[in-house]
Order: sequence, then structure tokens, then C-alpha cells
Amino acid sequence: MLIDNHNRTINYLRLAVTDRCNLRCNYCMPSEGIDFARNDKLLTIDELCQVAEILVDQGIDKIRITGGEPFVRKDLMVLLRHLTTLKELKDISVTTNATLIGRHIDQLKLLGIKNINVSLDAINRETFERITRRNHYDTVHNNLIRLISEGFNVRINFIVLDGQNEQDILPILDLMKHYPVSVRFLEEMPFNGGSKTFQKIKWDYKAILAHIVNAYPKYRKLESPATSTSINYQIEGHTSTFGLIPSFSRTFCGSCNRLRITATGDVITCLYGKPKVNLRDIIRGENAEENSKAKILEAVGSRAKTGFDAQKENKKVFDSSMTSIGG
Ligand code: SAM
Ligand code: SF4
Repeated sequence: MLIDNHNRTINYLRLAVTDRCNLRCNYCMPSEGIDFARNDKLLTIDELCQVAEILVDQGIDKIRITGGEPFVRKDLMVLLRHLTTLKELKDISVTTNATLIGRHIDQLKLLGIKNINVSLDAINRETFERITRRNHYDTVHNNLIRLISEGFNVRINFIVLDGQNEQDILPILDLMKHYPVSVRFLEEMPFNGGSKTFQKIKWDYKAILAHIVNAYPKYRKLESPATSTSINYQIEGHTSTFGLIPSFSRTFCGSCNRLRITATGDVITCLYGKPKVNLRDIIRGENAEENSKAKILEAVGSRAKTGFDAQKENKKVFDSSMTSIGG
């Protein structure tokens, strides 16, 4: 079991499989992209399997695959298939922009991987294309509807961006109201590869909630697991639910159960902090399992208490991009 220096149990791994992406979301990276890691710096699929096995052995029972865009990695299904063989792993999920998932849907279903988070920050085509800087609107919408109708547990991640997509907050709730999905509104974080910096945001979780309940005064708060980062609600008459994720306000640090491994093998114990250690050379060296476990224990044993504390130690916080941190 992994327990950090603030007595929080860590059982949830967010494993990034690539830093590459076929979109260029403006809140995530500049239009020209970032300095993507050299191929030999990325963990191979075998190494990703090995890292996952090590961490599951240390008590991780939930893995979310992320990136970059996971499905740009051609051998992703090999990793997913391997993860399904790990008995102690109770939950495997994927976060995706849903542009490339279509051809894998049947296989995902066969593997029993049903928890899919789809990032969708607009339902208006022009807004979508302005934010993502690409024209994959139809593909994303078709894949989203297919995932929902084929019975996947779909959660939609919608980052609320000042001056860009606030006009779509209520329409996306309307569009989804008859579907069994959760629409989660996230606060924007300053991890955009240096495109812009900010110290505060207009659309924090309180402002988003106020905007929604002004239009839908009849709603109820839902019970959420103690480690959930989202505060969840349901509007009267809606099948869907909605959630608010205070990713910038950081109100959930006290119960944070997460660890991140980036596509290059960095161990990150807080999104706002510096990487604690890199596992790539350790995995490629002698006594890989034993040495990796020791380094992971060390990293978990020196976690900042909150995202604000982590940020104080990280001078480069505003240079990073979610595509390389692993969102
Ligand atoms: N490419 C996949 C996708 O977009 O779903 C997975 C990786 S992406 C980095 C993971 C999540 O991070 C997405 O939901 C994305 O919207 C979110 N994200 C990226 N940049 C962010 C930022 N600056 N602030 C808040 N969330 C961000
Ligand atoms: Fe790509 Fe996801 Fe970043 Fe958008 S948020 S650029 S889809 S990694």
C-alpha cells in the first residue's frame, strides 16, 4: 500500500502513454505544439506495462490512461489488453479527445474497458474548431454518441474558458439531458506550454455553479466518493448529471489519492509540483523492479500537502503543458 507523508492512501495512477496529440487545444499548448520528447525518451509499451505492474503491486487499483492523446499511440491496445490481466486492478479508464477512438470501440468493449472520459469544450462547431485548432468536430460528436449508445460510462470534460466557450455551458447540459452521462466542468489551469499565464480565473467552480443554477434552480447535490475531485449535481428532470472540478481552486487536495507517471517516466505527485524522479533509466537498468519501487516510495513519502505548497517549489509551473504532464 502506498501511503504518503500526510497519511493519504495513493491507489490511483494516471499513466500517460504519449505526449503527442493530433489536436492543439489552446488551453493545453501553443499552436505550434511543444518540444515533444524524442522517441527514445518515451516509455515503450513493454515499459509502460512494467511500470503499471510495479505500481499495482504497490497498491494501485485504479489506472487512467491519458496523454497527450492516448490513441495516437499505435500500440495502445497492447497495453490496455495487458492491464486487463492484472487481477488487483479494479478500474481501467481512458481520457481521450475522441478523434481516433472509433476503430477501437469494439475492442474496448470486449476488454470490458467501459469508463471513458471525452474532452469536449464546445458543442458549437466554430467554437470547437477555434479551441482545438483542428476540424474534427463531426468525428468527435459521432464517436461520443456511439460511446454513449453502446453503453460506455461516459464523462465529458469541459474546461470553462473565459471569453471562449461559456456560452456553451447551458447548451451542453440541454443537449445531454436525456443521456446517462456526466458533464464535468473543469477550471482552467495554467498548463498551456507557456502560451499565457494567469493568477486567477473568472470561471471558478462557484461561478460555474452560479451560472447553471441561475438557469436551473431545481437541482440536487449528489453523494460523491471521498476521493472524488468533482462535486456532483443533478438537475431536476435530467438523466445526466453534472460535476464541477476545482482544478485551479484546489479544494480537494486533502483527500488526493493520485499519482502520475508521464510518457517519459517522470513521477509526479501533484500537477502543480515538479517531477519527483524519473523511472525510465531505472526501468531500463539492473534490479528495475526493486529500484523503481524504492524511488516510488521515496516520491510518495515527500508529497506536498496541497497544490499551493507544490507550486511554491516549482518555478517552471507556468511553462508546462498538460500534454506532457499527462492530464
Ligand atoms: N488528449 C486527451 C484529452 O484531451 O482528453 C487526454 C490528455 S488531456 C491533457 C487530459 C485532460 O486535461 C483533458 O480533459 C483536457 O481537457 C485537460 N486539460 C488540458 N489542459 C488543461 C488546462 N490547461 N487546464 C485544465 N484542464 C486541462
Ligand atoms: Fe491534445 Fe488533450 Fe491537450 Fe487537447 S487537451 S491538445 S486533445 S492533449
